[in-house]
Formats: sequence, C-alpha cells, structure tokens
Amino acid sequence: MGLSPEGVRLLLEGGNALGLDLSPHVPAFSRLYDLLMEANRRVNLTALRTETEVVVKHFLDSLTLLALPLWEGPWRVLDLGTGAGFPGLPLKIVRPELEITLLDATKKKVDFVAEAVAALGLKGAMALWGRAEVLAHDPTHREAYHRVVARAVAPMCVLAELGLPFLALEGAMVAQKGPKVAEELGRLPQALPLLGGRMGEVRRLALPQGGEERHLVVLVKEASTPPRYPRRPGLPEKHPLC
Ligand code: SAH
Repeated sequence: MGLSPEGVRLLLEGGNALGLDLSPHVPAFSRLYDLLMEANRRVNLTALRTETEVVVKHFLDSLTLLALPLWEGPWRVLDLGTGAGFPGLPLKIVRPELEITLLDATKKKVDFVAEAVAALGLKGAMALWGRAEVLAHDPTHREAYHRVVARAVAPMCVLAELGLPFLALEGAMVAQKGPKVAEELGRLPQALPLLGGRMGEVRRLALPQGGEERHLVVLVKEASTPPRYPRRPGLPEKHPLC
C-alpha cells in the first residue's frame, strides 16, 4: 500500500524545509511505513498511528539530525535506544554511506529493526539487542563509534553516561530533545568531565509541519572514559551523575 499521495507530499515538503531532497527515498520511506504499521498490529512498537504522525514525528523528526554538519563521512554510528528504528533507520536511508548499529534493550523492537533492515535491503546497518551499560564495556563497542545518536531515551545526565563510553576520541554524540531542555543542560557540566566529554553546540530548530520546538544537543568526546563508566545496568538512571 505504502504512503498515500498526501503522506508523500508531507514527506517531500518537510524534507524541503530541512534542506533535503527526499524524492529518491520515497520508496524506502513508503516501505518502512508499511512495515511499521503491519508490525504494530502484532506488537506494540510505537504510539504513533496516523500517517501524518509517522511522517512528521518519526521520519522528519529523525532527519532533523542532518541540520548538523556531522554526517559527511563513512562514520560508524550508534543509535542508542533505537526503539522501532528512530532516528537510525531514516538517517541510514538518506545517508547510506554511514555504517549504523541500532541498539535497543527490548527484544521485540530489535527483531522489528532487523526485519526492516532486511526488507529495505540496507547494507551496513545492524540491529543489536542489549543494554548500553553492558555493551559499552565490550571491546567491540567501547570507544568504537564516530557518532552516537539518541532520541527520547533518557535525561541528559543519564544519556551522557550511557553514550560517551561508546565514542572514539573526537567523536560526537547528538541527543534529540524537545522544547524543555534547559533544566537538563544546567546540571550537565558536573558530569561531563568525569566521562571524558565536553559540551558542544545546542541547535534549536522547529519541526516541519506544526513547528514544534526541538533541540539537538551535541556532546564531544575529548578524553578516554574511565573504565568504571557506565556503571552497572540501572544505576545511571537510579543515581544520575548530575
Ligand atoms: N529512539 C526511539 C525509541 C525511544 S523509547 C524513538 O525515538 O522513537 C526509548 C528506547 O530506549 C526503548 O526502546 C528502550 O528499550 C531503550 N533503552 C532505554 N534504556 C536503554 C539502555 N540502557 N540500553 C539499551 N536500550 C535502552
């Protein structure tokens, strides 16, 4: 079935507003929409159900990442807490040269993401099941990524502990946040030096179609993260560093 003509129009106009020509990618987004709707009938993957919501709040919201000049390279990217594949799948569709690992702690979500990767024929995309607190200590993943992205996963003080250990030196992490970010940012400077991170840019933008406010918070890895971080599963959330 795919996206309706109205859905395609929304995607293309929203893309334009973000400075992107999404027309070559309409078939991939259309297929992803079908996969998401079909899977959502079996298991509860996403609360977004209307076509407009999926296009705007999943596809276009994910692609706001491209407002930052961080994706020009064959980078290794980790999508931490990808859920049903956001922002990682849209990012991979539009920037196929990125090598992307899509990590989530929930098996049914990882199963869906693996199914979507196969159905879309995405090469260099891998679904990974596990907890960030565990995998960040695995030498295959620790300090092994140029970029970490995360949307709607945890407050900044928690996210910094989960994400920075995965970054190689000079790598950058981007947290996608909504309108209320000031309070989370206020406390963050206490935690970053412990983790080898420093504050980068905070980019404020408006989501196309409706203009909801969004923030992209960039953290930069400037020193190796001490081996004691991240702490064991659950602790970063229970006792945040800031
Ligand atoms: N990024 C997606 C999903 C957000 S929901 C989106 O924006 O649509 C948050 C997801 O993060 C959940 O699927 C949850 O399983 C995952 N998550 C939370 N903490 C995690 C951790 N410590 N390790 C791995 N995944 C985690």
